[in-house]
Amino acid sequence: MYLYNSLTRKKELFQPNNPDLVKMYTCGPTVYHFAHIGNLRTYIMEDVLEKSLRYLGYNVKRVMNITDVGHLSSDADTGEDKMLKGAKRENKSVMEIAQYYTDAFFADCEKLNIKKPEIIEPATNCIDEYIKIVSRLIEKDYAYLAGGNVYFDTSKLDKYYVFNDHDEDDLAIGVREGVEEDTNKRNKNDFVLWFTKSKFEDQALKWDSPWGVGYPGWHIECSGISMKHLGEDLDIHAGGIDNAFPHHTNEIAQSESYLGHKWCNYWFHVRHLNTDDGKMSKSKGEFLTVSLLEKKGYNPMAYRLFCLQSHYRRNLVFSWENLDNAAVAYQKLVSKIATLKSEGEVDETALNALKERFAGALNGDLNTSLAVTALYDVLKAKISDATKLAAIADFEQVLSLDLLKAAEELRKKEAEEAAASADPEIDALVAARTAAKKAKNFAEADRIRDELKAMGVEIIDTPQGTKWKKV
Ligand code: AMP
Ligand code: ZN
Repeated sequence: MYLYNSLTRKKELFQPNNPDLVKMYTCGPTVYHFAHIGNLRTYIMEDVLEKSLRYLGYNVKRVMNITDVGHLSSDADTGEDKMLKGAKRENKSVMEIAQYYTDAFFADCEKLNIKKPEIIEPATNCIDEYIKIVSRLIEKDYAYLAGGNVYFDTSKLDKYYVFNDHDEDDLAIGVREGVEEDTNKRNKNDFVLWFTKSKFEDQALKWDSPWGVGYPGWHIECSGISMKHLGEDLDIHAGGIDNAFPHHTNEIAQSESYLGHKWCNYWFHVRHLNTDDGKMSKSKGEFLTVSLLEKKGYNPMAYRLFCLQSHYRRNLVFSWENLDNAAVAYQKLVSKIATLKSEGEVDETALNALKERFAGALNGDLNTSLAVTALYDVLKAKISDATKLAAIADFEQVLSLDLLKAAEELRKKEAEEAAASADPEIDALVAARTAAKKAKNFAEADRIRDELKAMGVEIIDTPQGTKWKKV
């Protein structure tokens, strides 16, 4: 499989350290609010990546953290604590907020057929891991104590700035306008590993540490949780593009300084979902959630298809019109599949050729739009319905669009509707008209049509036979 690696800025042949097991880590949600559909774009594409790896024959062990402590409103350790902000907003405790929004996150994931990673770890579960890493970083002189906090000293590294295309001035996140500069930092991109001298006196979650009672910084969570479950090396680390800097840059800095060797080989970053007026953000007040899409009558699968139709390394613009188009496309796919009959032989040669095309799309840096095209090609192909259904079932291991289930439901609904509107008298007249037409008795056929019309029944001739409806 070829994957674009943000670390080398190239598409590379993916080669896990251990061919029998791919170790994958994904930054999880900060659970102070609902996930917006932008966040969920990232989780959908990570889900597709994991399922593609499995489809291509790999075993995958995937870990995801839940950020329930330490994430401040600026990624560079300034601003308010996000969890506290959520707790205050809703008059609840931080733990209540964390539980509520963790559950909400996984409920959204379920609606979007995003598989749960094998290991999900709340950041507050791994305090010992962070303390171990921070202690060693201090011992190795990569970290220093200042004003009560422990900071990572970025000047100790030959190469700190991975994942940025900007110059250093652009990256002066710590000194953004309106944000108080942390004067304890020796270098402007130094970051907090452990807070003790918190400006948040009401910080609810605190733990004892060699540097006093406090709590971990956000970046150390992902290094600690990854190492706890996946050991000292990692094949793929994934996240949204905004996580690349400073979060992932800091993860690399602290992990490799701690380990003394390279940590993660491939970095997978999903570009953002934006609205016409800019980036989606949870802190902007009203934002788009899966529940809101449902309230407006959209099937979450239409949103999943919308995401799959574009490449993960392209920004994606959300608009209701774009979502409408995806919803129509989804419905058309389902209707088409609903007409397939499961009888007939599966043509194994044809099926293998279709599977190869689909795998080829995934192999090419996870080209999901090409994978969706491969699905359309199945429907157009001159092969038995049974072969088509087998191919769709196979592709669905990755696409996870509920296509077969939705088609079955549609068939059932249509059959129920047909049964509910059944009328033997009309059926008999329609059959008599068909017989008259067959006998070339067109005058009689027209007479019956008029009779039915007078009864308020419209006749529709289709390639599958004559249908009727009451008008
Ligand atoms: P958060 O809950 O803020 O920690 O973010 C969860 C995930 O969503 C992270 O991987 C972010 O990089 C990602 N993310 C944030 N905003 C967007 C967006 N507009 N589009 C896609 N992914 C995003
Ligand atoms: Zn992370």
